[in-house]
Amino acid sequence: MPDLKCKLLIIGAGPGGYVCAIRAGQLGLDTIIVDESAPGGTCLNVGCIPSKALIHAAEEFHRIATAGQGPLGISAAAPEIDLARTVAWKDGIVSRLNSGVSGLMKKAGARFVAGRARFLDGKTVAVTQAGEEIQIRAEQIVIASGSAPVELPFLPFGGDILSSTDALALTKLPQSLAVVGGGYIGLELGTAFAKLGVKVTVVEAEGRILPTYDRALTAPVAKRLEALGVTVMTGAKAEAFAGGQLHTDQGAVEAEKVLVTVGRRPRTQGIGVEELALTLDGPFVRIDQHCQSSMRGIYAIGDVTGEPMLAHRAMAQGEMVAEHVAGHAVEWDKRAIPAVCFTDPEIVTCGALPGEVEGTKSSEFPLMANGRAMTCEREEGFIRVVWRESDHAVLGIQAVGAQVSEMSAAFTLAIEMGCCLEDIGATIHAHPTQSEGLQEACLRALGHALHI
Ligand code: FAD
Ligand code: NAD
Repeated sequence: MPDLKCKLLIIGAGPGGYVCAIRAGQLGLDTIIVDESAPGGTCLNVGCIPSKALIHAAEEFHRIATAGQGPLGISAAAPEIDLARTVAWKDGIVSRLNSGVSGLMKKAGARFVAGRARFLDGKTVAVTQAGEEIQIRAEQIVIASGSAPVELPFLPFGGDILSSTDALALTKLPQSLAVVGGGYIGLELGTAFAKLGVKVTVVEAEGRILPTYDRALTAPVAKRLEALGVTVMTGAKAEAFAGGQLHTDQGAVEAEKVLVTVGRRPRTQGIGVEELALTLDGPFVRIDQHCQSSMRGIYAIGDVTGEPMLAHRAMAQGEMVAEHVAGHAVEWDKRAIPAVCFTDPEIVTCGALPGEVEGTKSSEFPLMANGRAMTCEREEGFIRVVWRESDHAVLGIQAVGAQVSEMSAAFTLAIEMGCCLEDIGATIHAHPTQSEGLQEACLRALGHALHI
Protein backbone atom coordinates (compact mmCIF):
# COMPACT_ATOMS: atom_id res chain seq x y z
CA MET A 1 0.00 0.00 0.00
CA PRO A 2 1.41 3.46 -0.83
CA ASP A 3 1.89 6.10 1.87
CA LEU A 4 -1.28 8.01 2.76
CA LYS A 5 -2.34 11.53 3.71
CA CYS A 6 -5.42 12.71 5.53
CA LYS A 7 -6.88 15.54 7.59
CA LEU A 8 -7.57 13.42 10.68
CA LEU A 9 -5.79 10.23 11.75
CA ILE A 10 -7.10 8.21 14.66
CA ILE A 11 -4.99 5.58 16.42
CA GLY A 12 -7.30 2.92 17.85
CA ALA A 13 -10.80 1.86 16.80
CA GLY A 14 -12.32 1.34 20.25
CA PRO A 15 -15.46 3.22 21.33
CA GLY A 16 -13.49 6.48 21.46
CA GLY A 17 -11.75 6.08 18.11
CA TYR A 18 -14.54 4.59 16.04
CA VAL A 19 -17.12 7.16 17.20
CA CYS A 20 -14.60 9.91 16.43
CA ALA A 21 -14.13 8.42 12.93
CA ILE A 22 -17.87 8.16 12.25
CA ARG A 23 -18.53 11.74 13.38
CA ALA A 24 -15.50 13.05 11.48
CA GLY A 25 -16.70 11.27 8.34
CA GLN A 26 -20.19 12.70 8.78
CA LEU A 27 -18.63 16.16 9.01
CA GLY A 28 -16.79 15.63 5.73
CA LEU A 29 -13.28 15.36 7.26
CA ASP A 30 -10.86 13.18 5.31
CA THR A 31 -10.33 10.55 8.04
CA ILE A 32 -8.19 7.44 8.49
CA ILE A 33 -8.49 5.16 11.50
CA VAL A 34 -5.86 2.53 12.35
CA ASP A 35 -6.20 -0.52 14.56
CA GLU A 36 -4.10 -3.62 14.97
CA SER A 37 -7.17 -5.63 16.06
CA ALA A 38 -10.80 -5.93 15.04
CA PRO A 39 -12.78 -2.67 15.20
CA GLY A 40 -14.61 -2.06 18.47
CA GLY A 41 -11.67 -2.07 20.86
CA THR A 42 -11.65 -3.49 24.36
CA CYS A 43 -15.32 -2.70 24.90
CA LEU A 44 -16.72 -4.64 21.99
CA ASN A 45 -14.18 -7.46 21.71
CA VAL A 46 -13.15 -8.31 25.28
CA GLY A 47 -14.94 -5.88 27.60
CA CYS A 48 -18.43 -4.44 27.95
CA ILE A 49 -20.24 -6.62 25.43
CA PRO A 50 -18.67 -10.04 26.12
CA SER A 51 -18.91 -9.52 29.88
CA LYS A 52 -22.58 -8.58 29.68
CA ALA A 53 -23.22 -11.64 27.52
CA LEU A 54 -21.63 -13.90 30.16
CA ILE A 55 -23.50 -12.10 32.95
CA HIS A 56 -26.78 -12.67 31.10
CA ALA A 57 -26.07 -16.37 30.51
CA ALA A 58 -25.11 -16.82 34.17
CA GLU A 59 -28.27 -15.05 35.34
CA GLU A 60 -30.47 -17.29 33.17
CA PHE A 61 -28.69 -20.40 34.45
CA HIS A 62 -28.99 -19.30 38.05
CA ARG A 63 -32.65 -18.37 37.67
CA ILE A 64 -33.48 -21.89 36.46
CA ALA A 65 -31.19 -23.53 39.01
CA THR A 66 -32.85 -21.74 41.92
CA ALA A 67 -36.44 -21.56 40.63
CA GLY A 68 -37.62 -24.30 42.97
CA GLN A 69 -36.34 -22.42 46.03
CA GLY A 70 -38.45 -19.33 45.37
CA PRO A 71 -42.04 -18.49 46.35
CA LEU A 72 -43.44 -18.43 42.79
CA GLY A 73 -44.56 -22.02 42.61
CA ILE A 74 -42.17 -22.76 39.75
CA SER A 75 -40.06 -25.88 39.68
CA ALA A 76 -37.50 -26.81 37.08
CA ALA A 77 -35.02 -29.58 36.45
CA ALA A 78 -31.40 -28.78 37.34
CA PRO A 79 -29.93 -26.92 34.33
CA GLU A 80 -26.67 -27.72 32.60
CA ILE A 81 -24.46 -25.37 30.67
CA ASP A 82 -22.22 -26.01 27.69
CA LEU A 83 -19.87 -23.07 28.16
CA ALA A 84 -18.28 -23.61 24.75
CA ARG A 85 -21.70 -22.92 23.16
CA THR A 86 -22.24 -19.91 25.40
CA VAL A 87 -18.86 -18.52 24.30
CA ALA A 88 -19.66 -19.24 20.66
CA TRP A 89 -22.94 -17.31 21.05
CA LYS A 90 -21.02 -14.43 22.65
CA ASP A 91 -18.44 -14.51 19.84
CA GLY A 92 -21.28 -14.34 17.31
CA ILE A 93 -22.55 -11.13 18.90
CA VAL A 94 -19.03 -9.68 18.91
CA SER A 95 -18.54 -10.56 15.27
CA ARG A 96 -21.88 -8.98 14.28
CA LEU A 97 -20.88 -5.82 16.11
CA ASN A 98 -17.38 -5.83 14.50
CA SER A 99 -19.05 -5.83 11.10
CA GLY A 100 -21.53 -3.20 12.25
CA VAL A 101 -18.77 -0.83 13.38
CA SER A 102 -16.81 -1.40 10.14
CA GLY A 103 -19.95 -0.69 8.12
CA LEU A 104 -20.76 2.48 10.06
CA MET A 105 -17.23 3.86 9.60
CA LYS A 106 -17.30 3.03 5.90
CA LYS A 107 -20.75 4.58 5.45
CA ALA A 108 -19.46 7.78 7.07
CA GLY A 109 -16.52 7.80 4.64
CA ALA A 110 -13.72 7.03 7.11
CA ARG A 111 -10.95 4.72 5.85
CA PHE A 112 -9.85 1.82 8.09
CA VAL A 113 -6.20 0.74 7.95
CA ALA A 114 -5.23 -2.48 9.72
CA GLY A 115 -1.89 -2.48 11.53
CA ARG A 116 0.13 -1.22 14.47
CA ALA A 117 0.66 2.53 14.62
CA ARG A 118 3.74 4.34 15.92
CA PHE A 119 4.47 8.07 15.84
CA LEU A 120 7.44 9.13 13.75
CA ASP A 121 6.81 12.80 14.51
CA GLY A 122 3.85 14.99 15.48
CA LYS A 123 2.33 14.73 11.98
CA THR A 124 3.49 11.31 10.78
CA VAL A 125 2.64 7.81 11.89
CA ALA A 126 4.13 4.53 10.67
CA VAL A 127 1.69 1.63 10.40
CA THR A 128 3.09 -1.88 10.35
CA GLN A 129 1.28 -5.04 9.40
CA ALA A 130 2.77 -8.41 8.50
CA GLY A 131 6.23 -6.90 8.10
CA GLU A 132 5.01 -4.18 5.70
CA GLU A 133 5.20 -0.54 6.77
CA ILE A 134 3.40 2.49 5.39
CA GLN A 135 3.51 6.08 6.56
CA ILE A 136 0.45 8.23 7.08
CA ARG A 137 0.73 12.02 7.27
CA ALA A 138 -2.10 13.87 8.96
CA GLU A 139 -2.93 17.42 9.95
CA GLN A 140 -4.44 16.26 13.26
CA ILE A 141 -3.94 12.99 15.14
CA VAL A 142 -6.09 11.44 17.86
CA ILE A 143 -4.59 8.92 20.28
CA ALA A 144 -7.39 6.51 21.20
CA SER A 145 -5.22 3.52 22.07
CA GLY A 146 -7.18 2.55 25.18
CA SER A 147 -5.95 0.44 28.05
CA ALA A 148 -4.71 -3.02 28.98
CA PRO A 149 -5.07 -5.08 32.17
CA VAL A 150 -2.55 -4.45 34.94
CA GLU A 151 -0.44 -7.54 35.58
CA LEU A 152 0.87 -8.39 39.04
CA PRO A 153 4.56 -9.44 38.88
CA PHE A 154 3.97 -12.38 41.20
CA LEU A 155 0.84 -13.49 39.26
CA PRO A 156 1.81 -13.12 35.59
CA PHE A 157 -0.96 -13.84 33.08
CA GLY A 158 -0.80 -17.24 31.44
CA GLY A 159 -1.85 -20.81 32.22
CA ASP A 160 -4.21 -20.79 35.20
CA ILE A 161 -3.71 -17.08 35.88
CA LEU A 162 -6.32 -15.28 33.84
CA SER A 163 -6.88 -11.74 32.68
CA SER A 164 -10.47 -10.64 32.06
CA THR A 165 -9.92 -11.45 28.38
CA ASP A 166 -8.92 -15.03 29.23
CA ALA A 167 -11.85 -15.43 31.63
CA LEU A 168 -14.31 -14.37 28.92
CA ALA A 169 -12.97 -17.03 26.58
CA LEU A 170 -13.08 -20.04 28.96
CA THR A 171 -14.92 -22.96 27.41
CA LYS A 172 -14.92 -25.07 30.56
CA LEU A 173 -15.88 -23.94 34.04
CA PRO A 174 -13.25 -24.30 36.75
CA GLN A 175 -14.31 -25.86 40.05
CA SER A 176 -12.94 -22.88 41.94
CA LEU A 177 -11.85 -19.38 41.03
CA ALA A 178 -9.93 -16.83 43.08
CA VAL A 179 -10.53 -13.27 41.93
CA VAL A 180 -7.78 -10.83 42.87
CA GLY A 181 -9.31 -7.34 42.93
CA GLY A 182 -12.91 -6.68 44.00
CA GLY A 183 -13.58 -3.76 41.65
CA TYR A 184 -15.77 -3.51 38.57
CA ILE A 185 -14.44 -6.44 36.58
CA GLY A 186 -13.69 -8.76 39.47
CA LEU A 187 -17.19 -8.45 40.88
CA GLU A 188 -19.07 -8.48 37.58
CA LEU A 189 -17.28 -11.62 36.40
CA GLY A 190 -16.92 -13.16 39.86
CA THR A 191 -20.69 -12.94 40.35
CA ALA A 192 -21.31 -14.50 36.94
CA PHE A 193 -19.01 -17.45 37.65
CA ALA A 194 -20.58 -17.92 41.10
CA LYS A 195 -24.03 -18.09 39.47
CA LEU A 196 -22.70 -20.77 37.14
CA GLY A 197 -21.78 -22.87 40.16
CA VAL A 198 -18.07 -22.04 40.49
CA LYS A 199 -16.69 -21.66 44.03
CA VAL A 200 -15.54 -18.03 43.94
CA THR A 201 -13.28 -16.21 46.41
CA VAL A 202 -12.65 -12.48 46.02
CA VAL A 203 -9.37 -11.13 47.40
CA GLU A 204 -9.56 -7.33 47.73
CA ALA A 205 -6.69 -5.21 49.06
CA GLU A 206 -8.86 -2.37 50.38
CA GLY A 207 -11.17 -2.54 53.39
CA ARG A 208 -14.24 -3.35 51.28
CA ILE A 209 -15.35 -4.31 47.79
CA LEU A 210 -15.85 -1.58 45.18
CA PRO A 211 -13.95 0.89 47.35
CA THR A 212 -14.68 3.82 45.01
CA TYR A 213 -18.39 3.62 45.90
CA ASP A 214 -19.82 4.50 49.32
CA ARG A 215 -20.65 1.73 51.73
CA ALA A 216 -24.43 2.18 51.46
CA LEU A 217 -24.27 1.48 47.74
CA THR A 218 -22.04 -1.56 48.05
CA ALA A 219 -23.72 -3.20 51.07
CA PRO A 220 -26.53 -4.88 49.03
CA VAL A 221 -23.90 -6.24 46.62
CA ALA A 222 -21.84 -7.65 49.50
CA LYS A 223 -24.98 -9.28 50.94
CA ARG A 224 -25.88 -10.87 47.62
CA LEU A 225 -22.33 -12.18 47.14
CA GLU A 226 -22.64 -13.87 50.51
CA ALA A 227 -25.97 -15.40 49.51
CA LEU A 228 -24.38 -16.69 46.32
CA GLY A 229 -21.70 -18.42 48.39
CA VAL A 230 -18.87 -16.09 47.35
CA THR A 231 -16.15 -15.68 49.97
CA VAL A 232 -14.93 -12.08 50.16
CA MET A 233 -11.58 -11.39 51.77
CA THR A 234 -10.97 -7.68 52.34
CA GLY A 235 -7.77 -5.96 53.40
CA ALA A 236 -6.09 -9.01 51.88
CA LYS A 237 -3.03 -9.26 49.66
CA ALA A 238 -2.46 -12.04 47.17
CA GLU A 239 1.13 -13.30 47.29
CA ALA A 240 1.60 -16.30 45.01
CA PHE A 241 -0.17 -19.13 43.21
CA ALA A 242 1.08 -22.65 43.69
CA GLY A 243 -0.37 -26.16 43.92
CA GLY A 244 -3.94 -25.15 43.13
CA GLN A 245 -3.94 -22.56 45.89
CA LEU A 246 -3.73 -18.80 45.93
CA HIS A 247 -1.58 -17.76 48.86
CA THR A 248 -2.55 -14.52 50.56
CA ASP A 249 -1.45 -12.75 53.72
CA GLN A 250 -4.70 -14.06 55.26
CA GLY A 251 -4.15 -17.68 54.35
CA ALA A 252 -4.44 -19.94 51.31
CA VAL A 253 -7.49 -20.14 49.06
CA GLU A 254 -8.51 -23.08 46.87
CA ALA A 255 -8.23 -21.94 43.26
CA GLU A 256 -8.21 -24.00 40.08
CA LYS A 257 -7.88 -20.66 38.27
CA VAL A 258 -6.97 -17.15 39.38
CA LEU A 259 -8.54 -14.10 37.74
CA VAL A 260 -6.49 -10.93 38.22
CA THR A 261 -8.54 -7.72 37.92
CA VAL A 262 -6.57 -5.03 39.72
CA GLY A 263 -7.16 -2.18 37.29
CA ARG A 264 -6.12 -1.16 33.79
CA ARG A 265 -3.14 0.84 32.49
CA PRO A 266 -3.11 3.19 29.50
CA ARG A 267 -1.64 1.85 26.25
CA THR A 268 1.00 4.48 25.60
CA GLN A 269 4.07 2.30 25.29
CA GLY A 270 5.34 1.44 21.84
CA ILE A 271 3.20 4.12 20.20
CA GLY A 272 5.84 6.82 20.45
CA VAL A 273 4.04 8.89 23.08
CA GLU A 274 7.26 8.95 25.13
CA GLU A 275 9.30 10.23 22.18
CA LEU A 276 6.79 13.01 21.53
CA ALA A 277 7.27 14.03 25.18
CA LEU A 278 3.56 14.74 25.67
CA THR A 279 2.72 15.95 29.15
CA LEU A 280 1.36 13.09 31.23
CA ASP A 281 -0.97 12.90 34.23
CA GLY A 282 0.60 9.98 36.06
CA PRO A 283 0.66 7.33 33.34
CA PHE A 284 -2.17 8.96 31.35
CA VAL A 285 -2.01 11.53 28.52
CA ARG A 286 -2.94 14.94 29.91
CA ILE A 287 -5.73 16.68 27.98
CA ASP A 288 -7.53 20.02 28.07
CA GLN A 289 -11.24 20.79 27.65
CA HIS A 290 -10.99 19.96 23.94
CA CYS A 291 -9.11 16.70 24.60
CA GLN A 292 -5.97 18.31 23.14
CA SER A 293 -2.68 17.06 24.48
CA SER A 294 0.25 19.32 25.29
CA MET A 295 1.27 19.16 21.59
CA ARG A 296 -0.73 21.20 19.10
CA GLY A 297 -2.69 19.02 16.68
CA ILE A 298 -2.51 15.91 18.85
CA TYR A 299 -5.62 14.89 20.76
CA ALA A 300 -6.19 12.00 23.18
CA ILE A 301 -9.50 10.37 24.14
CA GLY A 302 -10.81 7.46 26.16
CA ASP A 303 -8.97 5.19 28.59
CA VAL A 304 -5.55 6.51 27.57
CA THR A 305 -6.58 9.79 29.25
CA GLY A 306 -7.49 8.21 32.59
CA GLU A 307 -10.52 7.75 34.82
CA PRO A 308 -13.33 7.17 34.52
CA MET A 309 -12.37 4.44 32.06
CA LEU A 310 -15.80 4.00 30.56
CA ALA A 311 -16.87 3.33 27.00
CA HIS A 312 -19.51 6.06 26.91
CA ARG A 313 -17.01 8.67 28.11
CA ALA A 314 -14.63 7.65 25.34
CA MET A 315 -17.46 7.89 22.80
CA ALA A 316 -18.53 11.35 23.97
CA GLN A 317 -14.92 12.55 23.80
CA GLY A 318 -14.52 11.08 20.31
CA GLU A 319 -17.62 12.85 19.06
CA MET A 320 -16.50 16.16 20.55
CA VAL A 321 -12.98 15.93 19.10
CA ALA A 322 -14.33 15.32 15.59
CA GLU A 323 -16.51 18.40 15.93
CA HIS A 324 -13.63 20.45 17.30
CA VAL A 325 -11.38 19.46 14.42
CA ALA A 326 -14.22 20.40 12.03
CA GLY A 327 -14.18 23.90 13.56
CA HIS A 328 -17.28 23.68 15.74
CA ALA A 329 -17.33 25.70 18.96
CA VAL A 330 -17.46 22.73 21.34
CA GLU A 331 -15.75 21.82 24.56
CA TRP A 332 -16.05 19.21 27.31
CA ASP A 333 -18.74 20.62 29.58
CA LYS A 334 -20.65 17.52 30.66
CA ARG A 335 -22.23 17.84 34.06
CA ALA A 336 -22.19 14.12 34.74
CA ILE A 337 -20.88 10.83 33.39
CA PRO A 338 -23.01 7.91 34.55
CA ALA A 339 -21.24 4.81 35.81
CA VAL A 340 -22.96 1.46 36.03
CA CYS A 341 -21.60 -1.55 37.81
CA PHE A 342 -23.34 -4.64 36.44
CA THR A 343 -23.12 -6.57 39.68
CA ASP A 344 -26.13 -8.15 41.34
CA PRO A 345 -27.82 -5.90 42.34
CA GLU A 346 -26.60 -3.28 39.89
CA ILE A 347 -25.17 0.07 40.99
CA VAL A 348 -25.61 3.36 39.14
CA THR A 349 -23.84 6.57 40.08
CA CYS A 350 -24.19 9.87 38.36
CA GLY A 351 -22.94 13.27 39.48
CA ALA A 352 -22.15 14.29 43.05
CA LEU A 353 -22.05 11.78 45.88
CA PRO A 354 -23.33 12.65 49.37
CA GLY A 355 -20.90 14.97 51.16
CA GLU A 356 -18.93 15.68 48.00
CA VAL A 357 -20.29 19.18 47.40
CA GLU A 358 -20.67 21.69 50.20
CA GLY A 359 -24.22 22.84 50.90
CA THR A 360 -25.83 19.64 49.63
CA LYS A 361 -28.08 17.10 51.30
CA SER A 362 -29.17 13.67 50.22
CA SER A 363 -32.41 11.80 50.40
CA GLU A 364 -33.24 8.24 49.45
CA PHE A 365 -36.19 6.01 48.73
CA PRO A 366 -35.89 2.30 49.58
CA LEU A 367 -36.95 -0.11 46.87
CA MET A 368 -38.64 -2.30 49.49
CA ALA A 369 -41.41 0.33 49.42
CA ASN A 370 -41.73 0.05 45.63
CA GLY A 371 -44.47 -2.21 44.21
CA ARG A 372 -42.56 -3.15 41.07
CA ALA A 373 -39.51 -4.23 43.08
CA MET A 374 -41.79 -6.46 45.19
CA THR A 375 -43.37 -8.10 42.14
CA CYS A 376 -39.88 -8.90 40.83
CA GLU A 377 -38.86 -10.42 44.20
CA ARG A 378 -36.03 -7.91 44.40
CA GLU A 379 -36.68 -5.45 47.19
CA GLU A 380 -33.10 -4.65 48.14
CA GLY A 381 -31.53 -1.31 47.36
CA PHE A 382 -32.58 2.32 47.06
CA ILE A 383 -32.55 5.40 44.86
CA ARG A 384 -30.82 8.47 46.25
CA VAL A 385 -30.74 12.12 45.20
CA VAL A 386 -28.08 14.61 46.20
CA TRP A 387 -29.45 18.14 46.08
CA ARG A 388 -28.31 21.68 46.80
CA GLU A 389 -30.02 23.24 49.79
CA SER A 390 -30.04 26.78 48.37
CA ASP A 391 -32.03 26.08 45.17
CA HIS A 392 -32.94 22.37 45.31
CA ALA A 393 -30.82 21.67 42.19
CA VAL A 394 -30.23 17.93 41.79
CA LEU A 395 -26.47 17.43 41.54
CA GLY A 396 -26.23 13.68 41.94
CA ILE A 397 -28.36 10.55 41.68
CA GLN A 398 -27.32 7.05 42.70
CA ALA A 399 -29.14 3.75 42.88
CA VAL A 400 -28.51 0.18 43.84
CA GLY A 401 -31.05 -2.45 42.89
CA ALA A 402 -31.91 -5.13 40.40
CA GLN A 403 -31.76 -3.79 36.84
CA VAL A 404 -31.38 -0.16 37.89
CA SER A 405 -28.86 0.24 35.03
CA GLU A 406 -31.73 1.10 32.70
CA MET A 407 -32.50 4.15 34.84
CA SER A 408 -29.04 5.63 34.29
CA ALA A 409 -30.21 7.67 31.29
CA ALA A 410 -33.03 9.29 33.29
CA PHE A 411 -30.60 10.13 36.09
CA THR A 412 -28.08 11.69 33.72
CA LEU A 413 -30.71 13.58 31.76
CA ALA A 414 -32.11 15.09 34.97
CA ILE A 415 -28.67 16.35 36.01
CA GLU A 416 -27.65 17.47 32.52
CA MET A 417 -30.92 19.44 32.15
CA GLY A 418 -30.39 21.11 35.52
CA CYS A 419 -33.51 19.66 37.15
CA CYS A 420 -34.41 20.60 40.68
CA LEU A 421 -36.29 18.42 43.16
CA GLU A 422 -39.59 20.02 42.20
CA ASP A 423 -39.09 19.20 38.48
CA ILE A 424 -38.60 15.49 39.12
CA GLY A 425 -41.20 15.41 41.88
CA ALA A 426 -43.80 16.91 39.48
CA THR A 427 -42.95 14.56 36.59
CA ILE A 428 -45.38 11.67 36.19
CA HIS A 429 -43.43 8.42 36.53
CA ALA A 430 -45.11 5.30 35.10
CA HIS A 431 -46.55 2.84 37.59
CA PRO A 432 -45.49 0.23 38.51
CA THR A 433 -41.82 0.89 37.77
CA GLN A 434 -38.75 1.15 39.93
CA SER A 435 -38.24 4.64 38.52
CA GLU A 436 -41.04 5.87 40.78
CA GLY A 437 -38.39 5.62 43.48
CA LEU A 438 -36.58 8.58 41.93
CA GLN A 439 -39.70 10.74 42.06
CA GLU A 440 -40.32 9.59 45.64
CA ALA A 441 -36.71 10.33 46.70
CA CYS A 442 -37.24 13.91 45.45
CA LEU A 443 -40.62 14.23 47.14
CA ARG A 444 -39.05 12.88 50.31
CA ALA A 445 -36.36 15.56 50.11
CA LEU A 446 -39.17 18.12 49.85
CA GLY A 447 -40.79 16.62 52.94
CA HIS A 448 -43.83 15.05 51.29
CA ALA A 449 -43.06 11.56 49.99
CA LEU A 450 -46.28 9.74 49.14
CA HIS A 451 -45.38 6.09 49.55
CA ILE A 452 -43.23 6.02 52.65
P1 FAD B 1 -10.15 0.64 23.76
O1 FAD B 1 -11.54 0.13 23.72
O2 FAD B 1 -9.18 -0.04 24.65
O3 FAD B 1 -9.62 0.60 22.25
C1 FAD B 1 -8.33 0.94 21.92
C2 FAD B 1 -8.00 0.34 20.58
O4 FAD B 1 -6.73 0.83 20.18
C3 FAD B 1 -7.89 -1.18 20.58
O5 FAD B 1 -8.72 -1.73 19.58
C4 FAD B 1 -6.41 -1.46 20.29
O6 FAD B 1 -6.23 -2.61 19.48
C5 FAD B 1 -6.02 -0.21 19.53
N1 FAD B 1 -4.61 0.12 19.62
C6 FAD B 1 -3.87 0.38 20.74
N2 FAD B 1 -2.62 0.69 20.41
C7 FAD B 1 -2.55 0.63 19.07
C8 FAD B 1 -1.50 0.87 18.13
N3 FAD B 1 -0.29 1.23 18.52
N4 FAD B 1 -1.78 0.71 16.83
C9 FAD B 1 -3.02 0.35 16.40
N5 FAD B 1 -4.03 0.13 17.24
C10 FAD B 1 -3.80 0.28 18.55
N6 FAD B 1 -16.98 0.25 30.14
C11 FAD B 1 -18.28 0.62 30.21
O7 FAD B 1 -18.59 1.81 30.00
N7 FAD B 1 -19.26 -0.27 30.51
C12 FAD B 1 -18.99 -1.58 30.74
O8 FAD B 1 -19.90 -2.37 31.00
C13 FAD B 1 -17.64 -2.00 30.68
N8 FAD B 1 -17.31 -3.29 30.89
C14 FAD B 1 -16.01 -3.68 30.77
C15 FAD B 1 -15.71 -5.02 31.00
C16 FAD B 1 -14.40 -5.45 30.88
C17 FAD B 1 -14.07 -6.90 31.11
C18 FAD B 1 -13.38 -4.52 30.51
C19 FAD B 1 -11.96 -4.99 30.34
C20 FAD B 1 -13.68 -3.20 30.30
C21 FAD B 1 -15.00 -2.76 30.44
N9 FAD B 1 -15.35 -1.43 30.25
C22 FAD B 1 -16.66 -1.03 30.36
C23 FAD B 1 -14.34 -0.40 29.92
C24 FAD B 1 -14.36 -0.11 28.42
O9 FAD B 1 -14.11 -1.29 27.70
C25 FAD B 1 -13.32 0.94 28.08
O10 FAD B 1 -13.54 2.10 28.87
C26 FAD B 1 -13.38 1.35 26.63
O11 FAD B 1 -13.21 0.24 25.77
C27 FAD B 1 -12.33 2.41 26.31
O12 FAD B 1 -12.41 2.76 24.98
P2 FAD B 1 -11.15 3.36 24.21
O13 FAD B 1 -11.65 3.70 22.84
O14 FAD B 1 -10.51 4.41 25.01
O15 FAD B 1 -10.08 2.18 24.14
P1 NAD C 1 -11.05 -1.40 39.39
O1 NAD C 1 -10.21 -0.21 39.62
O2 NAD C 1 -12.51 -1.26 39.24
O3 NAD C 1 -10.85 -2.45 40.57
C1 NAD C 1 -9.59 -2.93 40.94
C2 NAD C 1 -9.71 -3.42 42.36
O4 NAD C 1 -8.52 -4.14 42.65
C3 NAD C 1 -9.81 -2.29 43.37
O5 NAD C 1 -10.87 -2.55 44.25
C4 NAD C 1 -8.45 -2.33 44.09
O6 NAD C 1 -8.53 -1.93 45.43
C5 NAD C 1 -8.09 -3.80 43.95
N1 NAD C 1 -6.66 -4.08 43.98
C6 NAD C 1 -5.64 -3.40 43.41
N2 NAD C 1 -4.46 -4.04 43.62
C7 NAD C 1 -4.75 -5.16 44.31
C8 NAD C 1 -3.99 -6.25 44.79
N3 NAD C 1 -2.66 -6.32 44.61
N4 NAD C 1 -4.62 -7.25 45.46
C9 NAD C 1 -5.96 -7.21 45.65
N5 NAD C 1 -6.74 -6.20 45.21
C10 NAD C 1 -6.15 -5.20 44.54
O7 NAD C 1 -10.38 -2.16 38.13
P2 NAD C 1 -10.91 -3.31 37.19
O8 NAD C 1 -12.00 -4.08 37.86
O9 NAD C 1 -9.73 -4.01 36.70
O10 NAD C 1 -11.57 -2.49 36.00
C11 NAD C 1 -10.74 -1.57 35.24
C12 NAD C 1 -11.59 -0.45 34.70
O11 NAD C 1 -12.46 -0.96 33.69
C13 NAD C 1 -12.51 0.17 35.73
O12 NAD C 1 -11.88 1.26 36.37
C14 NAD C 1 -13.66 0.65 34.92
O13 NAD C 1 -13.45 1.99 34.56
C15 NAD C 1 -13.66 -0.23 33.69
N6 NAD C 1 -14.82 -1.16 33.76
C16 NAD C 1 -16.06 -0.65 33.78
C17 NAD C 1 -17.14 -1.49 33.85
C18 NAD C 1 -18.51 -0.91 33.85
O14 NAD C 1 -18.65 0.25 33.51
N7 NAD C 1 -19.53 -1.68 34.20
C19 NAD C 1 -16.98 -2.87 33.94
C20 NAD C 1 -15.68 -3.36 33.95
C21 NAD C 1 -14.61 -2.49 33.85
